[in-house]
Amino acid sequence: MKQSRRTFIIKAVAGVAAASMLPQVARATNEKLSESDPYAKSMGFKLNSGEVDKAKYKRWTAEQQCSKCQLWGGKASDEYGECSFFERYTPAGGWCKNFKAVKNA
Ligand code: SF4
Repeated sequence: MKQSRRTFIIKAVAGVAAASMLPQVARATNEKLSESDPYAKSMGFKLNSGEVDKAKYKRWTAEQQCSKCQLWGGKASDEYGECSFFERYTPAGGWCKNFKAVKNA
């Protein structure tokens, strides 16, 4: 089947657009964030907020946990919720230095 140059270009552009979406699709999983993830490490991420390096992160307080962060998508009763910053699931009791307190919490 012979295709026109225009059809070929349209298909090529659509293919490139679809390929550029792959990382987002791949990341939109229920994958849990690991402390060993290099980016998580650079953000001081801990599965347990209480294990944060308090000497390094002086603004950390015991009340700061993923479940009280604006970027956490879980419900109060959820053990894990999706963190929109990492695009991974983090535990309710987790923490990273990008913590943003939920207002009125
Ligand atoms: S951005 Fe918020 S929800 Fe995400 S890991 Fe950091 S503290 Fe937890």
